[in-house]
Amino acid sequence: MHADAAAAAAAARRMVDTAERVTVLTGAGISTDSGLPDFRGPKGLWTRDPAAERASNINVYVSDPEVRRSNWARRASGALWADVEPNRGHEALVHLERRGKLHLLITQNVDELHQSAGNSEDLVVEIHGTTRKVQCLSCDYRDDIEIALGRVRAGEEDPQCPDCGWLLKAATVSFGQSLDPVDVARAERAALECDLFLTVGTTLAVSPINMTAPLAAQSGARLVIVNGEPTEFDALADVLVGGSISEVLPVICGLDAPGG
Ligand SMILES: [Zn+2]
Repeated sequence: MHADAAAAAAAARRMVDTAERVTVLTGAGISTDSGLPDFRGPKGLWTRDPAAERASNINVYVSDPEVRRSNWARRASGALWADVEPNRGHEALVHLERRGKLHLLITQNVDELHQSAGNSEDLVVEIHGTTRKVQCLSCDYRDDIEIALGRVRAGEEDPQCPDCGWLLKAATVSFGQSLDPVDVARAERAALECDLFLTVGTTLAVSPINMTAPLAAQSGARLVIVNGEPTEFDALADVLVGGSISEVLPVICGLDAPGG
C-alpha cells in the first residue's frame, strides 16, 4: 500500500474505532475489485455496449420490444455475472457490522455483493435496486430474476408478468424511474443519526443520494471519503483515503492491521 494511502487509512481507522454509529454509502468502486466493470469508464459496460445504456432508460425499455429482447438475451447469457464474488472491501463492511458499528449500508450498486458477503438484509438499502431480482412494471410481482432468465433460456424472448401479463424488468431503478421514497427517507435519516459517514467507491455525483454526505457532515458527523479519484465533496471530508479499496477498507474497518 502507498504510504499516503496507508497514513490516511490509519487516520480513518481511528475515527471508526471511536465512532458508535457508522452510516456507509457505497458505489461501483467497491465492486470493481470483484471484476465488475463500472458503467462509464474506459472499459465500462455502457462504453462497450451502448445498447445496454439505451435499455437503462425506462421509456425506451417500455416502448421498444427489440431493446427488451436483446436485454433479456444479454442477461440470460450470464456473461455479466459469471464468477462475481465479494472482495475484501465487502468483507470489511461485514466486519464493521459484526463490531456493532454499522448503522445503515446504503449502496448504489445493484449486484447484491454486500448481502453475499454477509451484511444483514435489513441493514442494506439498495437505492438503485438490484439486478438479482425481477419485477413487474405494473403490479407488485417480484421474484428471483433466475425465474425469468429460465423462461428466456426456454425460448420466451420477452417474458411477461405471471400475475398480470404486463412487462417484466430487472428490479433496478432505471433512468426515468423514481427512487423508492421509503429508501430515500431511510438513507437521509441514517445520515442524520450517524456520528461517522463513510463513502466508498463513489464520486458522489449521482443525485439525490450523494447529498446524504453533506447532510451528515452538516449535522455534525465525521465524513470519511474512500475513493480512487476526486469526489464532489472532498472539501467536506475529515479524511480522504485513496488507493485500492480492497486494501484500505479492511484497515479502516479494523479487519486488517494498519501499515500492512
Ligand atoms: Zn404484473
